[in-house]
Amino acid sequence: MSGELVIVGLGPGSAGLQTAAAAAALAAASDLVGYGPYVDRVTARPDQVRHVSDNREELARARHALQLAADGRRVAVVSGGDAGVFGMASAVFEAIEHGEAAWRQIEPEVIPGVSAMFAAAARLGAPLGADFCALSLSDNLKPWAVIERRLRAAASAGFVIALYNPLSRARPWQLGAAFDLLRAELPGTTPVMFATAVTRPDERIDVAPLAQADPARADMRTLVLIGNETTRYIAREGRRPFVYSPRSAA
Ligand code: SAH
Repeated sequence: MSGELVIVGLGPGSAGLQTAAAAAALAAASDLVGYGPYVDRVTARPDQVRHVSDNREELARARHALQLAADGRRVAVVSGGDAGVFGMASAVFEAIEHGEAAWRQIEPEVIPGVSAMFAAAARLGAPLGADFCALSLSDNLKPWAVIERRLRAAASAGFVIALYNPLSRARPWQLGAAFDLLRAELPGTTPVMFATAVTRPDERIDVAPLAQADPARADMRTLVLIGNETTRYIAREGRRPFVYSPRSAA
């Protein structure tokens, strides 16, 4: 008998930004599958089985979840933010496409979540009010040349840009290279927003002009937003500035 498979976006961190649908799906699960820190965010009951795996094992984790569901379990695959934004939902569908025929009879449900770019933008004001795009700076899964091409195209087309996975210990230079590339396309005054661990206790938000943006400010828990030519910066005495992108283009 086939069980159930839900792919759950847990939101950026705080309980308040986890949706009611996510909470209900997690409560209904017999098995929780995911990267350790995400599974740790779920308060599992003693009867729920936790299957924790390493960050780089997304496809193997997806196959395992599908097999558990095919065996009749009620499986929740958990992902941070939104499960479809650089998350586990793609891995599950990739595993279905290339996996066992029986897996196509499973009806996976994707529960959307609040992606890091929305949580970060909400803290800053409204930087995503104009047309925007999202890019992962990780070159683990695609060549760096592709990332450069997309960054250049996004900047020259006037998109506000959300950068996920800006750097990590294994990828220390990528954000600096991205800033160098963007400085050739955009004015030095363009606001660059660093939003780290948004909605978590160690949250930190900073804004700097592109000319002075320091890639060392970011870590793997940071979402970087780059404004476009319309993005406004409102300085405030002793308080965090507001940043917004007007809906009307120049
Ligand atoms: N599916 C997730 C993104 C996973 S990729 C989502 O929709 O948010 C992992 C990247 O997301 C991190 O490197 C970081 O850039 C960003 N991120 C995730 N949670 C974050 C948070 N609470 N604050 C800031 N950035 C976060």
